Amino acid sequence: MKKVLLFLIDSMMPDILEQCIAAGKAPGLQFFMEKGQYIPDCVTVFPTMTASIDCSMITGVYPDQHKVPGLVWYDPDNRELVNYINGTVSVGKIGLEQCAKNVLFDLNERHLSRDVKTIHEELEENGRISGSINVIAHRGHKQHKVSLPPLLDVATGFTLREKISGPTLMSLGTLVKPGLFRPIVWNFSQSAWEGYGINDTHAIDVLIEVVKSGQQPDFTLIYLPENDRKLHRAPGEAVQHLADVDKELVRFLDIYPSWDQVLKENVCIFVSDHGQTLIGESKEHDIDLESLLSSYAILRLGAKVSEKDEVVLCNNERMTYLYPLVEGEGMDVVDAVSGDERIDLIAWKEGEKVRVMRGGSRESMCFWKAGTYQDVYGQGWSCEGDLQVLDVRLVGNELHFDAYPDAFARLYGALFAQEAPVIVLTAAPGYEFVSEASPTHLGGGSHGSLHKRDSLVPLLVAGSSRRFKYPARVVDLKAFILEELNVPVPGQ
Ligand SMILES: [Zn+2]
Repeated sequence: MKKVLLFLIDSMMPDILEQCIAAGKAPGLQFFMEKGQYIPDCVTVFPTMTASIDCSMITGVYPDQHKVPGLVWYDPDNRELVNYINGTVSVGKIGLEQCAKNVLFDLNERHLSRDVKTIHEELEENGRISGSINVIAHRGHKQHKVSLPPLLDVATGFTLREKISGPTLMSLGTLVKPGLFRPIVWNFSQSAWEGYGINDTHAIDVLIEVVKSGQQPDFTLIYLPENDRKLHRAPGEAVQHLADVDKELVRFLDIYPSWDQVLKENVCIFVSDHGQTLIGESKEHDIDLESLLSSYAILRLGAKVSEKDEVVLCNNERMTYLYPLVEGEGMDVVDAVSGDERIDLIAWKEGEKVRVMRGGSRESMCFWKAGTYQDVYGQGWSCEGDLQVLDVRLVGNELHFDAYPDAFARLYGALFAQEAPVIVLTAAPGYEFVSEASPTHLGGGSHGSLHKRDSLVPLLVAGSSRRFKYPARVVDLKAFILEELNVPVPGQ
């Protein structure tokens, strides 16, 4: 049986991948594309933010089931803002201790639902060995010690030394090191300035050592983050950023006697978590949430929720969760933002139903689970109202989506990740939300929305005798990999 390697390249986009290969700048990815199956329009998870997508990738379900709503969200039960680290300014305000605890411990051990199993749990319960390199969602059946760099150790009051769980092979930069093999020689990629080893070079260094050690797990998920960071700042050089990733992949390919040998021993899968949208250069491309909601008392970052707070803002770049704290004020909050045409979609729950409208318009539509209409993934739905709001086309009983891929299941997934009343906003192409201390990307790239530019990612599968089913979704990767490793897929 071949091993499976899943490479997650942050913000890799199909058009850039194709341009990069056409320019001869991605020999590694070109090799895999020529040897395998290429799907340019795989649908990812909403919100199009890495944290919730990683959780979907390893559990095979949308956030309504795995319960991690986004990168930034509000937990009404514990009355706390959850932030898995989105930029140094907001981390500074919320507190490094809180953010580091959220991402290192809470995400996997508290927030990610125990009602779903991760691919690592599923594989290791079936006698396979699983591995995770630099992925923030990594829950598994083995405990691993965290060794924090001194700065973070002091900042977090030494509280994070408790063990975190993961698969047998677990690597998280310099914080969690696999004990399988000789230590990797220290280099600049492990320094604090490079995200404590959460970078491409370190991930590939670890992967190379894993393969050379002769103890490669049956499945390994490898996260390569740098393409995303560079694209946020300099989207015009997208081809070069992906070419840089390819150099790292070639470094891995070159440890084998031939590149063909890689595919004799492994099924190699390449996917992205989301795309990016260009943000305009002028200030009006920042949608200032606090000025739109100026008549409400908004929870300040780092403050405890008090009686006087009326709304909590959770800004996920091109998507935002608004939590009305006062009973019955939800529709007033919708009214406060609905006049702005820079807001693309406004969606909220009405009982079991989802209501959606567009910014600057009064037209709305509504959809709910079960019914006579079927989407292309076989899920049944009912809907009524102006279907153009979500660019839905009905062909007989079939639902077809275009501007917003898998729109119903993905919006439902975000809104029903929590029971609390919540309003979802997305920004129109070219725009992004700003709020207290949020990162901004005027003239750069951003993501988070339901729109296809943020939502369609390339998927490459090489070395497998099977075809990935089409149309493809990121949530279908788990079942494909379990089947590849002869492990029964739950529910099939
Ligand atoms: Zn990003």
